[in-house]
Amino acid sequence: MNSIKVLERDNNHIVIEFNNIPRQYVNALRRLSISEVPTFAIDDVVILENSSVMHDEAVAHRLGLIPLRTDLKRFVMPHLCDCKSTLGCSNCRVLLVLDTESQDKTKVITSADLISEDEVVKPVNKEIPIVSLAPGQKLKFEAYARLGTGKNHAKWQPTSVAVVKDSKDEDDSVLVIESNGSLKPEEIVLEASKILGSKIKEFDSVIQSLSLPKNI
Ligand SMILES: [Zn+2]
Repeated sequence: MNSIKVLERDNNHIVIEFNNIPRQYVNALRRLSISEVPTFAIDDVVILENSSVMHDEAVAHRLGLIPLRTDLKRFVMPHLCDCKSTLGCSNCRVLLVLDTESQDKTKVITSADLISEDEVVKPVNKEIPIVSLAPGQKLKFEAYARLGTGKNHAKWQPTSVAVVKDSKDEDDSVLVIESNGSLKPEEIVLEASKILGSKIKEFDSVIQSLSLPKNI
């Protein structure tokens, strides 16, 4: 009989055993977890003031790599949003701002200094360094976070580990998913399963539309 069992689970990782389920299905879940489950990441940065030693582009690149806690229920991917605007709206983007200056000694600016307009969509860790400011240096910017997927850029990947392993039993496989903190590990797996379901439905409708040429 086919069944699944959660072997381990904590805030960051989940280990699920699939009994008698073809490995290619489990692998499809693994691949979709990495590349198609959306998360938030900073995508656009407007630098208003930057007297640090780091170029604007380097600051923006670092900001993009900060994992952000993601809420998939309240937000949509920008290309699916009704607003159709490049700037986005409250359904498809979150604004994070930073306005800081170093007074008398060198100050390390971290993810904790980012102020988000949303209660949920925030850096998952407050200790990620962004840049050091020497006395008198300033940094001020507006950063726009949007939903995206790992197939477009690795910064949108929700997983830090996604592997399929052999189980003790020959017909079983074990899926290990570790989250970078943007989503709960089980949210990643459930979302990947939803995506797999809709892909199969799409495929089925293509097959159903099959028409045989008359001359064969
Ligand atoms: Zn929108």
